[in-house]
Amino acid sequence: MTSSDLYPVSRLAAVQEATAKAGLDALLLTPGPDLRYVSGYDAKPLERLTCLVVPASGEAYMMVPRLELPAAQASPASRLGLEFVAWDETDDPYAVAAARLGRVGKVGKVGLADRMWAMSSLRFREVLPEAEQVLAGSVLRELRMRKSPAETAALREAGQAIDSVHRQVPELLRAGRTEREVARDIAEAILASGHQTVDFVIVASGPNGASPHHDVSDRVIQAGEPVVVDIGGQLHNGYCSDSTRTYSVGEPPAEFAAYYEVLRQAQEAACAAVRPGVSCESIDAAAREIIAEAGYGEYFIHRTGHGIGIETHEEPYIVSGNGEPLEPGFAFSVEPGIYLPGRHGARIEDIVVCAESGGERMNDTPRELVIV
Ligand code: ZN
Ligand code: ZN
Ligand code: ZN
Repeated sequence: MTSSDLYPVSRLAAVQEATAKAGLDALLLTPGPDLRYVSGYDAKPLERLTCLVVPASGEAYMMVPRLELPAAQASPASRLGLEFVAWDETDDPYAVAAARLGRVGKVGKVGLADRMWAMSSLRFREVLPEAEQVLAGSVLRELRMRKSPAETAALREAGQAIDSVHRQVPELLRAGRTEREVARDIAEAILASGHQTVDFVIVASGPNGASPHHDVSDRVIQAGEPVVVDIGGQLHNGYCSDSTRTYSVGEPPAEFAAYYEVLRQAQEAACAAVRPGVSCESIDAAAREIIAEAGYGEYFIHRTGHGIGIETHEEPYIVSGNGEPLEPGFAFSVEPGIYLPGRHGARIEDIVVCAESGGERMNDTPRELVIV
């Protein structure tokens, strides 16, 4: 899979069209996922302004600090045929960007990259005082949520890479080791599996498993303890992995085994409910109803999932209140959990892509409790 499949040149025109349709005059995209999605350029976030300006009509251009010009030219953005406007240390790149934009016409409304730094958004307010600022995500979400076949293939590649790490976890998890020791080995394996970066490694043993976003600690893992392992990283092509499995070091407590089976069924039911036209919140409900019926409703304390792509958490969110219907290409996690404070917890997480025929899981390691 090449970057021209993942970041096609045609995307810029599609973004311009969507920008015009949304009634925006331009998108201002500083380094981050929005810029990367539109141009393929994984630019460094710096205090010096790099900004892809996408007017609703007319030519797009990219403001680039002179010393970053070679990097920008070497990036996939160079295929877009846009002008790189290099600026020097004594220039005001915000004023230059605004002046060029003003040439096209009145600037009444601009979309800022969702992750633009406040220092940049405030500078853009100064140089475009008449322009209402909204999030570029209001335009880009519609495109970013619908993964192309190439993007789905990249998510599958990411899923297979993280699965290969989960397959090594049973050898790494042992009573007597600390969470941190295990996590260090896992992080190494994530890189060895083809990821460019390690985004997170959660190793939550015993009572720490009851905290969904526990990181790692120096706690020593004990025999008979369940351990929640939630791991993910980003491939060189930008696409992310995220998968959770719960392990038990030796035989787990009986009450744990009982609710783990409830959780497994809930996760299965939510994955099976995925198909076009079904709302995001009904996927959440599919998992939640099973957990609640078994009496654990109050211990499932987070939404069922989040979208994933070039960000680990992006739209759509699989949460009560989100009536957005699923469409082919939507990619998201299905990760219900049950957390008993002070005791232990469990979570099972797969990335699922909605296809015409239903949900396709990007992860493929056993979901039954793995006793190591
Ligand atoms: Zn999370
Ligand atoms: Zn997740
Ligand atoms: Zn996760």
